[in-house]
Amino acid sequence: MNNKTIVVLGSSNTDMVIKSPKLPLPGETIIGGAFFMNQGGKGANQAVAAARMGADVQFISKIGTDIFGKQSIKGYKDEGINVDKIFIDESAPSGIALISVDGVGENSILVAPGANSNLLPADLDKVIEEIKQAGILLMQLEIPMASIEYAAEAAFNNNVKVILNPAPAGKLSRKLIDCLFLIVVNESEAEYVSGVSVSDEATAIEAAKKISDMGVKNIIVTLGSDGVIAMIDREVFKVPAIKVEAIDTTAAGDTFCGVLSVGIMEGMPVIEAIKLANKAAALSVTRMGAQKSIPYRNEFE
Ligand code: ADP
Repeated sequence: MNNKTIVVLGSSNTDMVIKSPKLPLPGETIIGGAFFMNQGGKGANQAVAAARMGADVQFISKIGTDIFGKQSIKGYKDEGINVDKIFIDESAPSGIALISVDGVGENSILVAPGANSNLLPADLDKVIEEIKQAGILLMQLEIPMASIEYAAEAAFNNNVKVILNPAPAGKLSRKLIDCLFLIVVNESEAEYVSGVSVSDEATAIEAAKKISDMGVKNIIVTLGSDGVIAMIDREVFKVPAIKVEAIDTTAAGDTFCGVLSVGIMEGMPVIEAIKLANKAAALSVTRMGAQKSIPYRNEFE
């Protein structure tokens, strides 16, 4: 643990995926095809993306006492992630996502957040020194908002850069916004946070301006294959997407956030960190899967 550590505070899930010729309707049972079990959760994905950059990553999360949680911890350890501060919940199962994928790639997902919902401010008191001494605190919105606000405030008051990816989209309090060094939003999240309907570069810039007016210093709007709009200290930048053959965009946003955080941690100007994250995320969409698709640094830098 040192001031170069990226602390990721967020969710840990196990994704259970069944391929099926079609998605089941209410009341219907379908005999599907292949079954896969993958590590997931936006927190975990972003921690893995940062770790594969070679960064010093501490993941703060909460899992159950079940086999899924144990497997997750083993996976994070294998990635070189510091798991010392992952909490074990005696009362709830580890987070699970049940995913059906049909023949054309359409999916339906049901998430049981389980222990993720029980990661509370009282827990964070036990890891408050880790948060205060971090270089960067990276968070998403898959754990209780009270905990996100609590951690953000502790970090901000100790000059730790707070990076938020408000996914899945949710309302942000004034208190939380005031603590942010940087926010990364996709189109729908940008719309949720700013109130501006985002569909192209022009509307992304408009949304970024609104978020900037709220007091956030650095805003990044990711537009998938249409690139990135950034507003850095009120100045607008456009970074085109890298042309690739996309086959699965799962975890593209998570790859982007993890790699971006490492770039900033290493002292890169925000715009350079965006370019690096853009490369990593583009490579991730050329591969199937979530954590499986997240690249290692030497594959794209
Ligand atoms: P999310 O996955 O959160 O919805 P985006 O779809 O905006 O976020 O993707 C995040 C980033 O991943 C993009 O800014 C870009 O860098 C990369 N990316 C996503 N889709 C593509 C694509 N089709 N081609 C190249 N890069 C992509």
